[in-house]
Amino acid sequence: VDSEIAALRSAIQAADSIIVASHINPDGDAVGSSLALLMGIESLGKKATVILNDPVPMNLRFLPGWERIRGPEAVPLGAGLGIIADVGVMSRLGRARPSVEAAAHLCVIDHHEPDGAPPGDIRIIDTGASATCLILYRMLPTIGVEISPAIAQCLLTGIATDTGSFRFRNTDPATLDAASHLVALGGDLAQINEEVWEKKPLSAVKLLRFALDNLELYASGRVAVSRLTQSNYQEASASDEDSEGIVNEISRINTAQIAAMFREPKPGRVRVSVRSRGELDIAAVCRQFGGGGHVNAAGCTFESSIDDAIRTLVPALEACLASS
Ligand code: 5GP
Ligand code: MN
Repeated sequence: VDSEIAALRSAIQAADSIIVASHINPDGDAVGSSLALLMGIESLGKKATVILNDPVPMNLRFLPGWERIRGPEAVPLGAGLGIIADVGVMSRLGRARPSVEAAAHLCVIDHHEPDGAPPGDIRIIDTGASATCLILYRMLPTIGVEISPAIAQCLLTGIATDTGSFRFRNTDPATLDAASHLVALGGDLAQINEEVWEKKPLSAVKLLRFALDNLELYASGRVAVSRLTQSNYQEASASDEDSEGIVNEISRINTAQIAAMFREPKPGRVRVSVRSRGELDIAAVCRQFGGGGHVNAAGCTFESSIDDAIRTLVPALEACLASS
């Protein structure tokens, strides 16, 4: 890994143009790591642009520099260096993929379980890290970046969001040490908690009502499933962004070892978010259907009806339970 970090440092120095990208439906770790890289690269005297497939979610619009994030069309193809953060597969870049593929060199900084050989000439991948922002917290100083208060706030946000505000099992000593140091460097945990978790648009609260109404239990309550249909989205005046976090509400049910939220914000495409407790590896289940993620938090997409998606995925989730 040290040689990879040295290679990234040289690649940044050598590149005349740098793009930074992350995954579709960006979360706090995606936006936080992208912005920390942007500000870090700029502090080294180089220019960079962050491009994302989607607009920055409303609840992350407190992050320093969020308004500088662009759509992929904003930059010409052919950057000297592309860096992708919090994503290890090209298919999750969405419309940012052509820009990343057209870069002369590619660096991957990620903590997801790789699905096959990861892309890129430089790979800084640590599946043991609770967040991509934790990898950056360690790495940025070694490439000469001083962690400013603004960078600290971006890194702390990625760590806080990927650990569910330090509640998930991935909250290890290294994570808490980093968080402590980032607060000392100017990170504001109270602001993150309020902006990310304690505020929701009315449409998101209305959508939660439908998710609770549509609850179904399988395997004697050990698998909890819910759905959000297009008409639910319409009635709640909601968009896909409003579904964020709803799977966690379903997963609270104390008998549930696995929770899965099926949603169809737009016709013909069913997005599934899955959560599990303990050792149940639902990333492996999602990979069977072209998705992926982490042991306890993963997702996949079906191009079918919600009913068919449930009929396909639930038996695989039950099999995962049975094999444990
Ligand atoms: P969420 O349910 O919050 O959208 O995603 C949970 C985790 O699974 C995140 O780490 C996310 O990056 C990952 N994930 C969700 N959907 C997919 C997918 O379709 N493919 C892959 N490789 N990872 C996914
Ligand atoms: Mn992450």
